[in-house]
Amino acid sequence: RAVGALKKEPPQPRTFMRGMHTVTLIPGDGIGPEISTAVMKIFEAAKAPIQWEERNVTAIQGPGGRWMIPPDAKESMDRNKIGLKGPLKTPIAAGHPSMNLLLRKTFDLYANVRPCVSIEGYKTPYTDVNLVTIRENTEGEYSGIEHVIVDGVVQSIKLITEEASQRIAEYAFEYARNNNRASVTAVHKANIMRMSDGLFLRKCREAAEKHKDVKFTEMYLDTVCLNMVQDPTQFDVLVMPNLYGDILSDLCAGLIGGLGVTPSGNIGANGVAIFESVHGTAPDIAGKDMANPTALLLSAVMMLRHMGLHDHAKTIKAACFDTIRDKKVLTGDLGGKAKCSEFTEAICQRV
Ligand code: NAD
Repeated sequence: RAVGALKKEPPQPRTFMRGMHTVTLIPGDGIGPEISTAVMKIFEAAKAPIQWEERNVTAIQGPGGRWMIPPDAKESMDRNKIGLKGPLKTPIAAGHPSMNLLLRKTFDLYANVRPCVSIEGYKTPYTDVNLVTIRENTEGEYSGIEHVIVDGVVQSIKLITEEASQRIAEYAFEYARNNNRASVTAVHKANIMRMSDGLFLRKCREAAEKHKDVKFTEMYLDTVCLNMVQDPTQFDVLVMPNLYGDILSDLCAGLIGGLGVTPSGNIGANGVAIFESVHGTAPDIAGKDMANPTALLLSAVMMLRHMGLHDHAKTIKAACFDTIRDKKVLTGDLGGKAKCSEFTEAICQRV
């Protein structure tokens, strides 16, 4: 019945060390365990005050066949509030639903935040990208409401609510203010999706009225795509519904060197958050010590900032960027020949 049947593991002894913060670590599938090990090594070298509580997130079915997060992972997240997550594989068009979506729904992680900032020394079409995509993370086309109407005709519902739109719009303006960013652009297709995107846009406009210190613009999704590849420097913070955010944030990741270097955070209420690399499980290179751990490491740096551990965040980020700028020890996706473990060691030497 259970797809990745949850092994009954004996409860791990927990020893709490003074001044340490406990974080739930979900290593994930494919390259997940390799890049998680890299992050743990670098954090240890940097003496970051984090102790990890490792939990597997395999798809299991609860009463009535409902897909759920394994109870020990849920309990750990409920207690620690903060998680770091590697990629999780999702079967295509059948089997269990995306565990990423289930995690976001279970912990009501309503804001997906992806900073896209050019990395000095890493050659990309642009050298000065510095923007943040903020994506509504709980509804839209990803609400999972789908029906067969008649044979050969299916319907997927795009669900947009006032509450979720207002929450994400408010979050975007507060993020801009707290991170010294000057403008927020609402991305939409309210000319076509008049009711759903119309509601989303109205809530963004209302939030803009309350945050007059932050400049507000609105732009059609297709216009944003055009402008983004012509001159990404015109954008600062962008806020958008779920599906648009999923696609546009990958486009933005491409501008700074791809998914291997792009971090993200999924933020909920009351400090709950899961930080994750945005790339997948990379089955083609899994287990070969070839993966680039940068995306997960920079996600962990976002996590440190979220926890107020700014000094450690700064040190680790600088060590990672210095290693990339130096170009001597780089993984294959960054144009080098180094193994994941060698790249990790080079960062450890710098913290
Ligand atoms: P992918 O991101 O796993 O791989 C795409 C390409 O990028 C591959 O060539 C891979 O080797 C490379 N790549 C990705 N991350 C890398 C890294 N850190 N270092 C070096 N190279 C890297 O995308 P995919 O193949 O479409 O998906 C594979 C699986 O991952 C699927 O089951 C998918 O559902 C899942 N997935 C999970 C997440 C997540 O958990 N957040 C995100 C995307 C895809």
